[in-house]
Amino acid sequence: MVQQSISGVDAMGYYLTAQVCGNGHHTTSSVEHSPNLMANFCDKCGSETMTKCPSCSTKIRGKYYVDDFAIIGQNYTAPSFCHACGKAFPWTTTKIEAAKEMVEEIDELSPDEREKLKGAIDDIVIEGARTELGANRFKKLLTKMGSASASAMRDIVVDVISETAKKIIFP
Ligand SMILES: [Zn+2]
Ligand SMILES: [Zn+2]
Repeated sequence: MVQQSISGVDAMGYYLTAQVCGNGHHTTSSVEHSPNLMANFCDKCGSETMTKCPSCSTKIRGKYYVDDFAIIGQNYTAPSFCHACGKAFPWTTTKIEAAKEMVEEIDELSPDEREKLKGAIDDIVIEGARTELGANRFKKLLTKMGSASASAMRDIVVDVISETAKKIIFP
């Protein structure tokens, strides 16, 4: 069902609004099309949901709308940072902290390697000059961990790291 206000859009497209919980699960990636899917709390983790950036109140970007057919096949992952103010969303901060806490429990790594890995986590979340360096470091250290630790680490970071880092670490 398409509402009146968003029919007849030209091919330029725009972002719909997502509703996301504090842990990064989304109830809907299009509040405009699926208000029926919205909920005050997440049914996966019980955390409160939001449709706006907690720092600047800009709407959280959902799927990219071009036309009704184009959005059907799109996969959606909540953004890591707010496009309007640049602040990390709560789920990004939570996952970075969780990943760093996990680093402390990886016995296969030396204290020096643990510090390097924590620094690499900061680098791979951001798309920037240090992304590739961080991604290569992260990948190298990942091979030194047991496979259980490596896959747990992957699950924590995979949704918040930059596209460039993702291609290098998990091709
Ligand atoms: Zn949740
Ligand atoms: Zn913001």
